[in-house]
Amino acid sequence: MRTRRIIELPPVMTVKELADSLSISPSEVISALIRSGVMATINQTIDYDTAEIVATDMGYQTRLVVPQTDEERLISEFEANAGGGNPQPRAPVVTVMGHVDHGKTRLLDAIRQTNVVEGEAGGITQHIGAYQVEVQGRKITFLDTPGHEAFSAMRARGAQVTDIVVLVVAADDGVMPQTLEALAHARAADVPIVVAINKIDREGANPDRVKQQLSEHGLIPDDWGGDTPFIEVSALQRIGINDLLSIILLVADIRELRADSARKAEGVIIEARLDPNQGPNATVLVQNGTLKLRDFVLVGATVGRIRAMFDDKAQKLRKAEPSQPVRIHGLEAVPEAGDKLLVIEDEKLAREVAAQRARTAQMATMAASRPTTLDELFKGAGADRTKELNVVLKADVQGSIGAIEHALGQLAEENVKVTVVYAAAGPVSESDVRLAAASNAIIIAFNVRPDPAARRIAEAESVDIRYYNIIYNLLDDVRAALAGMLEPEYQEVVDGYGEVRAVFRLPNREQAAGLYVTDGKAVRNSRVRVLRNGAVIHDGEVSSLRRFKDDVREVQSGYECGLGVAHFHDFEEGDNVEFYHQEQVRR
Ligand code: GDP
Repeated sequence: MRTRRIIELPPVMTVKELADSLSISPSEVISALIRSGVMATINQTIDYDTAEIVATDMGYQTRLVVPQTDEERLISEFEANAGGGNPQPRAPVVTVMGHVDHGKTRLLDAIRQTNVVEGEAGGITQHIGAYQVEVQGRKITFLDTPGHEAFSAMRARGAQVTDIVVLVVAADDGVMPQTLEALAHARAADVPIVVAINKIDREGANPDRVKQQLSEHGLIPDDWGGDTPFIEVSALQRIGINDLLSIILLVADIRELRADSARKAEGVIIEARLDPNQGPNATVLVQNGTLKLRDFVLVGATVGRIRAMFDDKAQKLRKAEPSQPVRIHGLEAVPEAGDKLLVIEDEKLAREVAAQRARTAQMATMAASRPTTLDELFKGAGADRTKELNVVLKADVQGSIGAIEHALGQLAEENVKVTVVYAAAGPVSESDVRLAAASNAIIIAFNVRPDPAARRIAEAESVDIRYYNIIYNLLDDVRAALAGMLEPEYQEVVDGYGEVRAVFRLPNREQAAGLYVTDGKAVRNSRVRVLRNGAVIHDGEVSSLRRFKDDVREVQSGYECGLGVAHFHDFEEGDNVEFYHQEQVRR
């Protein structure tokens, strides 16, 4: 049998466009359309399904190609223009974590003061959120907001900036609750750990006890045959600082961290603020490529041209290399920590993408967000894949934790894995919620409640906190979710967003909106919500969706269409609409 030629077609096209892609005359297409009962003229648009009938008629096999979104075009543009091709070793980026008062801040100060980057010694130290030091002619970057909450907050936003974690433990105090929290955060991020046993100058300092305690949590010192370096330091008396830095370089070498300074820059925002005199400014950690003065950048939902750059000594720079933190001026709005920065040639495209992102973010806050549930976490898991459930476990007493962990372990079947990312006694804290958000975990709260800050962040980050006071109920829930036995549940899925650009009166007092699809797609068989100034004024069904005169099933973003909503005749220009449908959640 003759194999059919394959032809790629977009979701919508004009009759003429279809004729061109089939290399036949428009009149032949029109005839074929008439044969299948569709009346169309040369400039009319038809959808993919209609085009497919014609193409199949002509002996083709069709394939749907959805045109690139602006985001996709932007990434292709970046990749095409980024250049480079010769990655070189880059400086490691380090975050310091540990229990409160164990000396994180003091250690960061000591490192900064003992190892100033050559040639920068003159400048006055500026807090820009990160700094670089030089050891043995090589640089190390430190993020100077210590702590694991900030670390996981960035990670939850998709920004993995840290290469190495320094876990600070006071030698006289030993391992404390936040030491273990920090350990869990670093592990969840799969970042190598270097332990700094601090305050060894103190009477009562007991480094061996720290080693013993951390060993019990799986962090075995290298001199005990494990693979975690432990360094004894005194941040106060500046003892062991250079040893610590040498070890950091060693760990960096093992990780073979590389970047390509010949490329256009990519980076992440470490912090940002609005300066009353200079306008928005932000600290960028350059992750790859070289950031240059006058570069045009897209940062989250804003853009700008780099007007000035400063390092952590307030020295003016013309360029910033991989792993270098720099404060930049010239952005048009204040970005958020964790936003990605890209140097983009096509300014118009960058602006369009920024505007779309801003709209999406606005819509997301307007649409009622529904927390991620136990069941949703399984949704992506197919039959052939191992189902995984990550759990952060908080309980009233240590005894319950052991019992619950043991029981969860028993639940594990062949293709099911429950991982307890972190377990501790105490209320649900901000740290727990951050960790759960970054690890796609649920929180099991056994006989404990979240504090107000934790509750607020859980809501904002859509983290599911489940409360139990009977182990049996807890296990039952998890088991039922694992086995897919719970009652079906429906969940709302938003298909797209649009803006009303015009309003048309139709015969018999009907009304239609001229709609511009801003994100996703408009779908004929979905429900719509009409929003005016952020408030929902109608919720109902789509009664008609048209491109030009044709009824269509879908309209992609970037296109205009006519929209009718059943029993609704009150559109105004500037209204927003949301297309959505209900989907059954797989258990
Ligand atoms: P952080 O909460 O972890 O940032 O801890 P800080 O850096 O603020 O230190 C807490 C306290 O411990 C301060 O009073 C420091 O002066 C003190 N400290 C920090 N490092 C050392 C050290 O190496 N030796 C001694 N004796 N005290 C230290």
